[in-house]
Amino acid sequence: MVNLMKENIFNKIAKKKVNIDYIYKDKYITVFNDINPKAPIHIIIIPNIYIKNLNYVNKKNIIYINKMFLYIPIITKKKNINKSGYRIIINCNKDSGQEIKYLHLHILGGCLLI
Ligand code: 5GP
Repeated sequence: MVNLMKENIFNKIAKKKVNIDYIYKDKYITVFNDINPKAPIHIIIIPNIYIKNLNYVNKKNIIYINKMFLYIPIITKKKNINKSGYRIIINCNKDSGQEIKYLHLHILGGCLLI
């Protein structure tokens, strides 16, 4: 039975069920622009399997986290923010303001972040 909790927007994006401009996709990760950017460059990286948040990272799914982080230097170089700098954010649960219950990594850059 499909777990409806899992069928959130990022789960749909990971399954390519949403018509958006995908920046990158492979076996492990999906990369796309944030719909409501908080900086000139605001990119989201998600694993292609459902992981609710950082509390659920384990030895079995760590390969997906590795791949998410390995893609950071690639995309930041492509977007030309590797030298100017950028911020990585991963929110976890309500006190962080995690809105989407699907582990994701934000890359923010292209301006001075305060
Ligand atoms: P959180 O607060 O959960 O860490 O961040 C969720 C992010 O997802 C927010 O920055 C929000 O703008 C973005 N977002 C929410 N819904 C969509 C969507 O349908 N498409 C895209 N591309 N981004 C989304």
